[in-house]
Amino acid sequence: PGEQFVPDPSKKTLVILGTGWGSVALLKNLDTENYNVVVVSPRNYFLFTPLLPSCTTGLIEHRSIMEPVRAILRHKKGAANYYEAEATNVDTERKVITVVDNSEVRGATSTTEIPYDMLVVGVGAENATFGIPGVREHSCFLKEIGDAQRIRKKIMDCVETAALRGQSEEEMNRLMHMVVVGGGPTGVEFAGELQDFFEEDIKKLVPGISPRFKVTLIEALPNVLPSFSKQLIDYTENTLREEKIDIMTKTMVKKVTDNTVEAEISRPDGTKERVEIPYGLLVWATGNAVRPIVKDMMARIPAQKDSRRGLAVNEYLVVQGARDVWAIGDCAVAGYAPTAQVASQEGSFLARLFNNMAKTESLEGRIHDLSSKMNLKAGNAAEDAQEIELLEKQLRRIKDVKPFRYSHQGSLAYIGSEKAVADVSWWNGNLATGGSMTYLFWRSAYLSMCFSTRNRVLVILDWLKSKAFGRDISRE
Ligand code: FAD
Ligand code: NAD
Repeated sequence: PGEQFVPDPSKKTLVILGTGWGSVALLKNLDTENYNVVVVSPRNYFLFTPLLPSCTTGLIEHRSIMEPVRAILRHKKGAANYYEAEATNVDTERKVITVVDNSEVRGATSTTEIPYDMLVVGVGAENATFGIPGVREHSCFLKEIGDAQRIRKKIMDCVETAALRGQSEEEMNRLMHMVVVGGGPTGVEFAGELQDFFEEDIKKLVPGISPRFKVTLIEALPNVLPSFSKQLIDYTENTLREEKIDIMTKTMVKKVTDNTVEAEISRPDGTKERVEIPYGLLVWATGNAVRPIVKDMMARIPAQKDSRRGLAVNEYLVVQGARDVWAIGDCAVAGYAPTAQVASQEGSFLARLFNNMAKTESLEGRIHDLSSKMNLKAGNAAEDAQEIELLEKQLRRIKDVKPFRYSHQGSLAYIGSEKAVADVSWWNGNLATGGSMTYLFWRSAYLSMCFSTRNRVLVILDWLKSKAFGRDISRE
């Protein structure tokens, strides 16, 4: 205890980048006794992203959906090592990664190299801004715990500031205008949670300014939730309108300033109109972009030159053009959507693959030993030959690993006012459903998917607490 990690020279070193959906599914299912496992991530916890929108209003407290990576590693049979650092470079020729520690306690950044025999890249994606001016400076994203905390603080800042006396009507309206850009599942779920917060708590606690509260959802395409079925898109848009959320479709945001959004609306007659929308809170949810470390790898590996959205992988999730490097989740392009479901199935697949590889090596070693013994005519040749035959049979079975195939369990999204939509596989067909029953299904599905029993209990307690006492609107 307390000593530095010393790799066992008889085992290969497996370095895993990231502690998100992909990497954690891999860790959970990996037999860590077979490798020197090293996990590197700037975030020392796993984050259950599906419930992150609920943290922006305090319906769920953020720590309820976090699971420390060290708690995950503690339950593994073989020792696995964790470094809180960010990988900045992968040298696929020398088989080393460069990691940077940005910890505030150090005062300065420190850089070090970690060698690997096998590397798994599971660094996820960053927020897409499409280079639109002002987005990074003025809007809040919704991807990490810090983002949800920032939004929670800012909502109450807008409300309390708008409630101050002696301001113009215009300024009060601006402060109470919450704009969400991006009508994908992140934007829709957040808009729904925000409207709930207003209806269930803010309206009661700060009644004076409540008529001014408005949520606007801006989407560039003709409808929200483009990946859902037509029937559910219509249901979602109708429900959002009933909730008094203003939906602006065919509207592309072009510029953001500290208190306005400039957008271009495409009219049915083909004309375009430029509008300026004042806002108090702006949440930017326009999807994923490639992280710099992944971009850098793509630029340096010739076989990746045609890939745009991440590291192109083969059906065994091996990074095309690199030796002993695999990629999973949002940073990998395997032909599937960038979702938690895909990332976790990819992580579990790699765990099975690596467990198999280790077993194969051990069987091959044993066969080699027995063959040498037979050649030296030491021991019982008949018995050894029989064992070799048995081992070879096992080996053939193990080596026959089928390529990765994603099994889609369905899509779920919360849309506010205790309603959800679900496109799920049902018997041999598909079921598209929306409403309050679907909401109960949504709750139980996400509860069952929480990482640990501790998370599950905390989430249930948060739901009960908010139901009984309302959300906590104190601004920390
Ligand atoms: P992530 O989970 O993003 O993890 C990436 C990890 O890599 C993190 O630990 C990060 O700290 C680390 N990292 C980053 N850079 C580096 C570096 N340079 N070196 C080392 N480590 C690094 N999907 C669904 O299927 N269902 C849902 O309901 C759902 N809801 C969502 C709600 C929200 C608000 C959001 C934002 C996403 C949601 N998603 C959902 C999508 C899902 O979260 C992602 O697809 C999933 O997180 C991808 O997993 P990943 O392992 O690739 O990356
Ligand atoms: P997304 O890519 O699904 O949607 C982003 C939306 O923003 C798009 O519809 C796009 O047209 C719009 N957009 C882009 N630029 C714009 C602009 N300038 N102005 C206006 N609109 C603009 O992004 P997301 O919702 O963050 O989801 C990312 C991934 O995570 C997806 O794969 C999604 O399925 C997954 N996810 C799933 C769930 C769920 O299942 N409940 C929840 C959140 C995220």
